[in-house]
Amino acid sequence: MTQLRDLPVEEARARMLGAVSPGVPELILLDRHALGRVLAEPIAAVRDQPPFDASAMDGYAVPLEGVWTAGFQLIGESAAGRPYAGAAPRAGETVRVFTGASVPEGCAVVVQERASRESDHVRFEGAPPSIGAHVRARGGDFRRGEILLPAGVRLDAWRLALAASAGRGEALVFPQPRVAILSTGEEIVRAGAADPSDAQIFDSNGPALSTLIAQWGGRPVPLDAVRDSQAAILAALDGVAAELIVTVGGASVGDYDLVKPALAKLGLELLVETIRLRPGKPTWFGTLPNGQRVLGLPGNPASGLVAAELFLRPLLAAWQGVDPAFPLEHARLAEPLEATGPREHWMRARLVSQADGSVSAHTFPDQDSSLVSVFAAADALVRRPAGAPALASGEVVEMLRLKRL
Ligand code: AMP
Ligand code: MG
Repeated sequence: MTQLRDLPVEEARARMLGAVSPGVPELILLDRHALGRVLAEPIAAVRDQPPFDASAMDGYAVPLEGVWTAGFQLIGESAAGRPYAGAAPRAGETVRVFTGASVPEGCAVVVQERASRESDHVRFEGAPPSIGAHVRARGGDFRRGEILLPAGVRLDAWRLALAASAGRGEALVFPQPRVAILSTGEEIVRAGAADPSDAQIFDSNGPALSTLIAQWGGRPVPLDAVRDSQAAILAALDGVAAELIVTVGGASVGDYDLVKPALAKLGLELLVETIRLRPGKPTWFGTLPNGQRVLGLPGNPASGLVAAELFLRPLLAAWQGVDPAFPLEHARLAEPLEATGPREHWMRARLVSQADGSVSAHTFPDQDSSLVSVFAAADALVRRPAGAPALASGEVVEMLRLKRL
Protein backbone atom coordinates (compact mmCIF):
# COMPACT_ATOMS: atom_id res chain seq x y z
CA MET A 1 0.00 0.00 0.00
CA THR A 2 1.19 3.50 -0.78
CA GLN A 3 2.45 5.44 2.17
CA LEU A 4 0.17 8.43 2.86
CA ARG A 5 1.64 9.69 6.12
CA ASP A 6 4.67 11.74 6.94
CA LEU A 7 5.40 12.54 3.29
CA PRO A 8 8.28 14.87 2.42
CA VAL A 9 7.02 18.28 1.21
CA GLU A 10 8.15 17.71 -2.38
CA GLU A 11 6.44 14.37 -2.60
CA ALA A 12 3.21 15.63 -1.06
CA ARG A 13 3.18 18.47 -3.58
CA ALA A 14 3.88 16.13 -6.50
CA ARG A 15 0.98 13.90 -5.47
CA MET A 16 -1.38 16.85 -5.25
CA LEU A 17 -0.23 18.24 -8.60
CA GLY A 18 -0.71 14.83 -10.17
CA ALA A 19 -4.40 15.13 -9.37
CA VAL A 20 -5.11 18.40 -11.20
CA SER A 21 -5.04 19.55 -14.81
CA PRO A 22 -6.18 22.76 -16.52
CA GLY A 23 -9.82 23.09 -17.60
CA VAL A 24 -11.26 23.72 -21.08
CA PRO A 25 -10.03 27.09 -22.41
CA GLU A 26 -12.51 29.95 -22.84
CA LEU A 27 -12.45 32.95 -25.17
CA ILE A 28 -12.35 36.32 -23.39
CA LEU A 29 -11.93 39.96 -24.34
CA LEU A 30 -8.43 41.23 -23.69
CA ASP A 31 -9.56 44.20 -21.62
CA ARG A 32 -8.69 44.97 -17.99
CA HIS A 33 -10.83 42.05 -16.81
CA ALA A 34 -8.23 39.80 -18.43
CA LEU A 35 -5.71 40.84 -15.76
CA GLY A 36 -4.22 37.73 -14.15
CA ARG A 37 -5.76 35.30 -16.64
CA VAL A 38 -3.49 32.70 -18.23
CA LEU A 39 -3.15 32.34 -21.99
CA ALA A 40 -4.21 28.97 -23.34
CA GLU A 41 -2.89 29.84 -26.81
CA PRO A 42 0.15 31.71 -28.06
CA ILE A 43 -0.44 35.30 -29.18
CA ALA A 44 1.01 36.00 -32.61
CA ALA A 45 1.14 39.42 -34.27
CA VAL A 46 -1.58 39.90 -36.89
CA ARG A 47 0.67 42.35 -38.76
CA ASP A 48 4.00 44.15 -38.63
CA GLN A 49 4.47 46.80 -35.93
CA PRO A 50 4.90 49.54 -36.87
CA PRO A 51 2.92 48.65 -40.02
CA PHE A 52 4.86 51.23 -42.08
CA ASP A 53 8.17 53.05 -41.91
CA ALA A 54 7.35 55.72 -39.36
CA SER A 55 8.98 59.03 -38.56
CA ALA A 56 10.46 59.28 -35.07
CA MET A 57 10.55 63.08 -35.23
CA ASP A 58 8.84 66.14 -36.61
CA GLY A 59 10.80 67.16 -39.69
CA TYR A 60 11.21 66.58 -43.40
CA ALA A 61 11.54 63.39 -45.43
CA VAL A 62 14.30 63.70 -48.01
CA PRO A 63 15.47 61.18 -50.61
CA LEU A 64 18.96 59.85 -50.01
CA GLU A 65 20.15 60.88 -53.46
CA GLY A 66 20.52 64.37 -54.80
CA VAL A 67 22.47 67.51 -54.16
CA TRP A 68 22.06 68.30 -50.48
CA THR A 69 23.07 71.94 -50.52
CA ALA A 70 20.76 73.18 -53.28
CA GLY A 71 17.60 73.31 -51.22
CA PHE A 72 14.40 71.31 -51.58
CA GLN A 73 10.98 71.76 -53.05
CA LEU A 74 8.16 70.91 -50.61
CA ILE A 75 5.72 68.58 -52.39
CA GLY A 76 3.40 67.38 -49.62
CA GLU A 77 2.78 66.43 -46.03
CA SER A 78 2.52 63.17 -44.09
CA ALA A 79 0.86 63.19 -40.65
CA ALA A 80 0.03 60.34 -38.27
CA GLY A 81 -3.09 58.65 -39.61
CA ARG A 82 -2.99 60.79 -42.80
CA PRO A 83 -0.11 59.48 -44.93
CA TYR A 84 1.30 61.32 -47.94
CA ALA A 85 -0.37 59.77 -50.97
CA GLY A 86 1.74 61.16 -53.84
CA ALA A 87 4.73 59.73 -55.67
CA ALA A 88 7.90 59.30 -53.57
CA PRO A 89 10.01 62.48 -53.56
CA ARG A 90 12.79 62.59 -56.13
CA ALA A 91 16.12 64.37 -55.85
CA GLY A 92 15.49 67.94 -54.72
CA GLU A 93 12.01 67.20 -53.32
CA THR A 94 10.92 66.86 -49.71
CA VAL A 95 7.76 65.93 -47.77
CA ARG A 96 6.86 67.47 -44.43
CA VAL A 97 6.55 64.66 -41.84
CA PHE A 98 5.40 64.51 -38.22
CA THR A 99 6.11 62.02 -35.45
CA GLY A 100 4.36 58.72 -36.12
CA ALA A 101 3.67 59.56 -39.76
CA SER A 102 4.50 57.28 -42.66
CA VAL A 103 7.86 58.15 -44.26
CA PRO A 104 7.80 57.98 -48.07
CA GLU A 105 9.88 55.20 -49.59
CA GLY A 106 13.61 55.72 -49.95
CA CYS A 107 13.69 58.69 -47.59
CA ALA A 108 15.33 59.58 -44.29
CA VAL A 109 14.14 62.30 -41.92
CA VAL A 110 15.84 65.58 -41.13
CA VAL A 111 14.60 67.14 -37.90
CA GLN A 112 12.76 70.41 -38.27
CA GLU A 113 15.26 72.21 -36.00
CA ARG A 114 17.76 71.90 -38.88
CA ALA A 115 15.38 73.28 -41.51
CA SER A 116 14.51 76.78 -42.64
CA ARG A 117 11.51 77.13 -44.82
CA GLU A 118 10.29 79.89 -47.08
CA SER A 119 6.94 79.11 -48.64
CA ASP A 120 7.50 75.71 -50.33
CA HIS A 121 11.29 75.94 -50.44
CA VAL A 122 13.30 74.26 -47.66
CA ARG A 123 17.00 74.40 -46.79
CA PHE A 124 18.79 72.22 -44.24
CA GLU A 125 21.86 72.84 -42.10
CA GLY A 126 24.58 70.29 -41.49
CA ALA A 127 25.40 67.00 -43.19
CA PRO A 128 22.91 64.95 -45.26
CA PRO A 129 21.04 62.28 -43.31
CA SER A 130 22.25 58.68 -43.35
CA ILE A 131 20.00 55.76 -44.32
CA GLY A 132 17.23 55.26 -41.79
CA ALA A 133 17.88 58.47 -39.87
CA HIS A 134 14.91 59.17 -37.54
CA VAL A 135 12.90 56.40 -39.24
CA ARG A 136 11.33 53.56 -37.24
CA ALA A 137 11.44 50.73 -39.76
CA ARG A 138 8.31 48.74 -40.50
CA GLY A 139 8.30 45.64 -38.26
CA GLY A 140 10.99 47.10 -35.99
CA ASP A 141 8.96 46.25 -32.87
CA PHE A 142 7.75 42.87 -34.13
CA ARG A 143 6.82 41.10 -37.36
CA ARG A 144 3.53 39.65 -38.53
CA GLY A 145 3.21 36.05 -37.35
CA GLU A 146 5.87 36.43 -34.65
CA ILE A 147 4.89 34.73 -31.37
CA LEU A 148 4.81 37.51 -28.82
CA LEU A 149 3.38 35.68 -25.82
CA PRO A 150 3.48 31.90 -25.37
CA ALA A 151 0.65 29.89 -23.86
CA GLY A 152 0.94 29.59 -20.08
CA VAL A 153 1.76 33.24 -19.55
CA ARG A 154 -0.25 35.24 -17.02
CA LEU A 155 -1.58 38.52 -18.40
CA ASP A 156 -0.44 41.73 -16.74
CA ALA A 157 -0.68 45.32 -17.92
CA TRP A 158 2.39 45.14 -20.17
CA ARG A 159 1.48 41.81 -21.72
CA LEU A 160 -2.02 43.14 -22.40
CA ALA A 161 -0.39 46.15 -24.06
CA LEU A 162 1.70 43.83 -26.24
CA ALA A 163 -1.32 41.72 -27.25
CA ALA A 164 -3.26 44.89 -28.06
CA SER A 165 -0.45 46.37 -30.16
CA ALA A 166 -0.31 43.03 -31.98
CA GLY A 167 -3.96 43.54 -32.89
CA ARG A 168 -5.49 40.86 -30.66
CA GLY A 169 -8.81 41.82 -29.09
CA GLU A 170 -9.60 38.44 -27.58
CA ALA A 171 -7.81 35.22 -26.70
CA LEU A 172 -8.29 31.76 -25.26
CA VAL A 173 -7.46 31.58 -21.57
CA PHE A 174 -7.66 28.79 -19.02
CA PRO A 175 -10.67 28.86 -16.71
CA GLN A 176 -10.18 30.04 -13.13
CA PRO A 177 -10.76 27.26 -10.64
CA ARG A 178 -13.54 27.90 -8.14
CA VAL A 179 -12.28 27.24 -4.64
CA ALA A 180 -14.70 26.79 -1.74
CA ILE A 181 -13.31 27.71 1.69
CA LEU A 182 -14.84 26.13 4.77
CA SER A 183 -13.59 27.04 8.23
CA THR A 184 -14.54 24.48 10.85
CA GLY A 185 -14.57 24.61 14.63
CA GLU A 186 -17.01 25.00 17.47
CA GLU A 187 -15.14 28.15 18.54
CA ILE A 188 -14.87 29.89 15.15
CA VAL A 189 -16.91 33.04 14.53
CA ARG A 190 -16.81 35.65 11.83
CA ALA A 191 -14.91 38.84 12.68
CA GLY A 192 -17.36 41.54 13.62
CA ALA A 193 -19.79 39.11 15.21
CA ALA A 194 -21.70 40.72 18.07
CA ASP A 195 -20.72 39.80 21.66
CA PRO A 196 -18.19 37.04 21.04
CA SER A 197 -17.60 34.98 24.16
CA ASP A 198 -14.12 34.37 25.54
CA ALA A 199 -14.36 30.83 24.24
CA GLN A 200 -14.70 32.02 20.67
CA ILE A 201 -11.98 32.72 18.12
CA PHE A 202 -12.39 35.00 15.11
CA ASP A 203 -11.95 33.33 11.75
CA SER A 204 -8.70 34.78 10.39
CA ASN A 205 -7.86 31.99 7.96
CA GLY A 206 -11.08 32.35 5.97
CA PRO A 207 -10.46 35.95 4.85
CA ALA A 208 -6.74 35.27 4.33
CA LEU A 209 -7.40 32.26 2.12
CA SER A 210 -10.11 33.99 0.07
CA THR A 211 -7.68 36.80 -0.61
CA LEU A 212 -4.76 34.52 -1.48
CA ILE A 213 -6.95 32.44 -3.79
CA ALA A 214 -8.08 35.54 -5.66
CA GLN A 215 -4.47 36.78 -5.78
CA TRP A 216 -3.38 33.42 -7.24
CA GLY A 217 -5.99 33.53 -9.99
CA GLY A 218 -8.72 31.34 -8.46
CA ARG A 219 -12.32 32.29 -7.72
CA PRO A 220 -12.91 32.08 -3.97
CA VAL A 221 -16.25 30.73 -2.80
CA PRO A 222 -16.30 31.54 0.94
CA LEU A 223 -18.71 29.44 2.97
CA ASP A 224 -20.00 30.16 6.47
CA ALA A 225 -17.91 28.51 9.18
CA VAL A 226 -19.39 25.32 10.66
CA ARG A 227 -19.31 23.63 14.06
CA ASP A 228 -17.36 20.44 14.74
CA SER A 229 -20.08 18.13 13.49
CA GLN A 230 -19.89 15.69 10.62
CA ALA A 231 -23.48 16.50 9.65
CA ALA A 232 -22.76 20.25 9.63
CA ILE A 233 -19.62 19.77 7.52
CA LEU A 234 -21.45 17.60 5.00
CA ALA A 235 -24.42 19.99 4.83
CA ALA A 236 -22.10 22.94 4.16
CA LEU A 237 -20.34 21.16 1.31
CA ASP A 238 -23.43 19.57 -0.22
CA GLY A 239 -23.77 20.69 -3.84
CA VAL A 240 -21.12 23.41 -3.55
CA ALA A 241 -20.02 24.54 -7.02
CA ALA A 242 -16.24 24.40 -6.83
CA GLU A 243 -13.44 22.39 -8.39
CA LEU A 244 -11.45 22.55 -5.17
CA ILE A 245 -12.61 22.60 -1.56
CA VAL A 246 -10.26 23.97 1.07
CA THR A 247 -11.20 23.10 4.62
CA VAL A 248 -9.66 24.84 7.61
CA GLY A 249 -9.21 23.16 10.98
CA GLY A 250 -10.24 19.76 12.25
CA ALA A 251 -7.42 18.26 10.22
CA SER A 252 -5.61 16.29 12.88
CA VAL A 253 -6.47 13.20 14.90
CA GLY A 254 -8.25 14.70 17.93
CA ASP A 255 -11.78 13.78 18.96
CA TYR A 256 -13.07 16.94 17.25
CA ASP A 257 -11.09 16.58 14.05
CA LEU A 258 -14.02 15.51 11.95
CA VAL A 259 -13.42 16.76 8.41
CA LYS A 260 -11.79 13.61 7.04
CA PRO A 261 -14.24 11.25 8.79
CA ALA A 262 -17.16 13.30 7.41
CA LEU A 263 -15.81 13.29 3.86
CA ALA A 264 -14.99 9.58 4.13
CA LYS A 265 -18.75 9.09 4.07
CA LEU A 266 -18.79 10.69 0.61
CA GLY A 267 -16.02 8.37 -0.58
CA LEU A 268 -12.99 10.61 -0.03
CA GLU A 269 -9.85 9.04 -1.45
CA LEU A 270 -6.80 10.34 0.41
CA LEU A 271 -3.60 10.99 -1.56
CA VAL A 272 -1.78 12.75 1.27
CA GLU A 273 -2.53 12.23 4.94
CA THR A 274 0.23 14.06 6.81
CA ILE A 275 3.36 15.93 5.72
CA ARG A 276 6.83 16.15 7.20
CA LEU A 277 6.34 19.89 7.52
CA ARG A 278 6.58 22.44 10.30
CA PRO A 279 4.20 24.13 10.70
CA GLY A 280 1.45 22.30 8.81
CA LYS A 281 1.99 18.62 9.54
CA PRO A 282 -1.75 17.70 9.49
CA THR A 283 -2.23 19.10 5.95
CA TRP A 284 -3.99 16.52 3.81
CA PHE A 285 -5.30 16.17 0.25
CA GLY A 286 -7.78 13.89 -1.45
CA THR A 287 -10.36 13.49 -4.19
CA LEU A 288 -14.10 12.97 -4.00
CA PRO A 289 -16.02 10.64 -6.34
CA ASN A 290 -17.70 13.70 -7.96
CA GLY A 291 -14.27 14.90 -9.13
CA GLN A 292 -13.86 17.62 -6.52
CA ARG A 293 -10.43 17.90 -4.95
CA VAL A 294 -10.08 18.65 -1.27
CA LEU A 295 -7.15 20.31 0.48
CA GLY A 296 -7.38 20.05 4.26
CA LEU A 297 -5.49 22.79 6.08
CA PRO A 298 -4.76 22.88 9.80
CA GLY A 299 -6.56 25.60 11.73
CA ASN A 300 -3.57 27.27 13.31
CA PRO A 301 -3.10 30.41 11.22
CA ALA A 302 0.60 30.02 10.46
CA SER A 303 0.20 26.31 9.66
CA GLY A 304 -2.68 26.98 7.29
CA LEU A 305 -0.97 29.84 5.52
CA VAL A 306 2.42 28.12 5.19
CA ALA A 307 0.60 25.10 3.72
CA ALA A 308 -1.36 27.42 1.41
CA GLU A 309 1.87 28.94 0.10
CA LEU A 310 3.51 25.55 -0.37
CA PHE A 311 0.55 23.61 -1.81
CA LEU A 312 -2.46 25.75 -2.68
CA ARG A 313 -0.49 28.24 -4.74
CA PRO A 314 1.12 25.59 -6.97
CA LEU A 315 -2.22 23.75 -7.23
CA LEU A 316 -3.94 26.89 -8.50
CA ALA A 317 -1.07 27.55 -10.90
CA ALA A 318 -1.29 24.03 -12.37
CA TRP A 319 -5.06 24.36 -12.64
CA GLN A 320 -4.58 27.47 -14.77
CA GLY A 321 -1.91 25.99 -17.02
CA VAL A 322 1.00 27.81 -15.36
CA ASP A 323 4.24 26.15 -14.35
CA PRO A 324 3.65 25.46 -10.63
CA ALA A 325 7.36 25.69 -9.74
CA PHE A 326 8.29 28.58 -7.50
CA PRO A 327 11.98 29.36 -7.52
CA LEU A 328 13.29 30.20 -4.08
CA GLU A 329 15.39 33.25 -3.44
CA HIS A 330 18.36 33.58 -1.11
CA ALA A 331 19.05 35.64 1.97
CA ARG A 332 21.70 35.92 4.67
CA LEU A 333 20.70 35.05 8.18
CA ALA A 334 20.73 38.03 10.51
CA GLU A 335 20.82 35.73 13.55
CA PRO A 336 22.12 32.18 14.11
CA LEU A 337 19.64 29.30 13.85
CA GLU A 338 19.49 26.02 15.71
CA ALA A 339 19.56 22.66 13.95
CA THR A 340 16.26 21.64 12.37
CA GLY A 341 14.30 18.64 13.59
CA PRO A 342 12.96 15.80 11.42
CA ARG A 343 10.42 18.06 9.66
CA GLU A 344 11.14 20.66 6.98
CA HIS A 345 10.72 24.01 8.73
CA TRP A 346 9.43 27.16 7.04
CA MET A 347 10.23 30.06 9.35
CA ARG A 348 8.51 33.42 9.26
CA ALA A 349 11.08 36.14 8.65
CA ARG A 350 11.42 39.84 8.05
CA LEU A 351 13.72 40.91 5.20
CA VAL A 352 16.06 43.87 5.15
CA SER A 353 17.92 44.75 1.95
CA GLN A 354 21.55 45.72 2.46
CA ALA A 355 23.68 48.36 0.79
CA ASP A 356 25.80 45.66 -0.90
CA GLY A 357 22.70 44.33 -2.68
CA SER A 358 22.21 41.30 -0.45
CA VAL A 359 19.11 40.63 1.62
CA SER A 360 19.24 39.70 5.27
CA ALA A 361 16.54 37.60 6.89
CA HIS A 362 15.54 38.19 10.49
CA THR A 363 13.67 35.07 11.59
CA PHE A 364 11.14 35.85 14.28
CA PRO A 365 12.19 34.43 17.68
CA ASP A 366 8.73 33.01 18.32
CA GLN A 367 7.71 30.68 15.50
CA ASP A 368 4.59 29.32 17.19
CA SER A 369 2.05 28.32 14.57
CA SER A 370 -0.80 30.20 16.24
CA LEU A 371 0.73 33.67 15.84
CA VAL A 372 -1.17 35.78 13.33
CA SER A 373 0.75 38.90 14.40
CA VAL A 374 4.06 37.30 13.40
CA PHE A 375 2.71 36.15 10.03
CA ALA A 376 1.31 39.59 9.34
CA ALA A 377 4.77 41.12 9.96
CA ALA A 378 6.66 38.58 7.84
CA ASP A 379 8.01 39.22 4.33
CA ALA A 380 9.29 35.72 3.68
CA LEU A 381 9.37 32.10 4.73
CA VAL A 382 12.90 30.83 5.30
CA ARG A 383 13.26 27.16 4.33
CA ARG A 384 15.17 24.90 6.66
CA PRO A 385 15.46 21.37 5.26
CA ALA A 386 14.63 18.44 7.52
CA GLY A 387 17.68 17.56 9.63
CA ALA A 388 19.59 20.73 8.66
CA PRO A 389 22.51 21.65 10.94
CA ALA A 390 22.72 24.79 13.06
CA LEU A 391 23.72 27.89 11.10
CA ALA A 392 25.73 30.94 12.12
CA SER A 393 24.50 34.43 11.32
CA GLY A 394 25.62 35.53 7.85
CA GLU A 395 25.07 32.10 6.31
CA VAL A 396 22.90 31.89 3.21
CA VAL A 397 19.45 30.28 3.36
CA GLU A 398 16.68 29.70 0.85
CA MET A 399 13.48 31.66 1.23
CA LEU A 400 10.09 32.13 -0.34
CA ARG A 401 9.13 35.77 -0.57
CA LEU A 402 5.57 36.48 0.53
CA LYS A 403 3.74 38.82 -1.78
CA ARG A 404 3.07 41.96 0.27
CA LEU A 405 1.28 44.98 -1.13
P1 AMP B 1 -7.65 22.78 14.65
O1 AMP B 1 -6.82 22.66 13.43
O2 AMP B 1 -9.11 22.74 14.36
O3 AMP B 1 -7.24 21.79 15.69
O4 AMP B 1 -7.37 24.20 15.24
C1 AMP B 1 -6.09 24.55 15.73
C2 AMP B 1 -6.09 25.93 16.31
O5 AMP B 1 -6.36 26.88 15.28
C3 AMP B 1 -7.15 26.16 17.36
O6 AMP B 1 -6.60 26.98 18.35
C4 AMP B 1 -8.25 26.90 16.62
O7 AMP B 1 -9.01 27.72 17.46
C5 AMP B 1 -7.48 27.70 15.64
N1 AMP B 1 -8.27 27.89 14.40
C6 AMP B 1 -8.95 26.95 13.72
N2 AMP B 1 -9.57 27.45 12.67
C7 AMP B 1 -9.28 28.77 12.65
C8 AMP B 1 -9.63 29.85 11.79
N3 AMP B 1 -10.40 29.65 10.71
N4 AMP B 1 -9.15 31.07 12.07
C9 AMP B 1 -8.36 31.27 13.16
N5 AMP B 1 -7.98 30.30 14.00
C10 AMP B 1 -8.44 29.05 13.76
MG1 MG C 1 -10.80 22.70 15.48
